[in-house]
Amino acid sequence: MNIKHHLDEATLMSYTAGSMSQAMALVVACHLSMCTACRERAHESEAIGGMLLDSLKPAPVGDDALAQVLACIDGLPEAEAEALDASYKDTQSCSENKSHLNIGSSVPSPLSIYIGSSLDHIEWTRIVPGVHYHDLPFKTERGGVSRLLRIAPGKAMLPHSHDGNELTLILCGSFTDEVGRFTVGDIADLDNEIQHQPLVDSNEDCICLIATDAPLKFSTLLGKIVQPMTGF
Ligand SMILES: [Zn+2]
Repeated sequence: MNIKHHLDEATLMSYTAGSMSQAMALVVACHLSMCTACRERAHESEAIGGMLLDSLKPAPVGDDALAQVLACIDGLPEAEAEALDASYKDTQSCSENKSHLNIGSSVPSPLSIYIGSSLDHIEWTRIVPGVHYHDLPFKTERGGVSRLLRIAPGKAMLPHSHDGNELTLILCGSFTDEVGRFTVGDIADLDNEIQHQPLVDSNEDCICLIATDAPLKFSTLLGKIVQPMTGF
């Protein structure tokens, strides 16, 4: 795997500090499971965060603090608690410098918790001919999405920018946009200054894992008209 597009520094810091949404964290964890370079950078980021914590003055907590945290975990629905536990274990093992692509498939382990180990058995919903999505079970506070997107060869997304960050990890196929060419393992880590229009340039469908933290901003009239149907 020849990964050319990586996570930016602010995204890595946010991930290792545990301050990003679960939807965004899943995309980051999947890229880390595929990218040795970013795993090493994540280790460095964790070390910096640890040094900063060491320098903080300890704050007093109540005697019942641990009991309150455990009570919150006990109060989670069983399925949510199991997913959280599995996701945590997987994120931890990702930082142990191992590759976590399932053999024989294109599904990184952190994602396989939610969709299984193969991209072949996903239930897709059609947006328009050649463009399908599969939503993941995360709520996003500002109306963003967490989903898999499958786009046919030669198809393009409508031009858009963002009202926040957008993370896109390529699992299958490839696309080209104003930033460059993205192939399997590459991550597009975009902020609200980038406007782009991804065009699928592979012979096979391009399947991406996407998380946004706010609705996209479509720049054409057509984009604005179809936005309610796309769920973006
Ligand atoms: Zn990377």
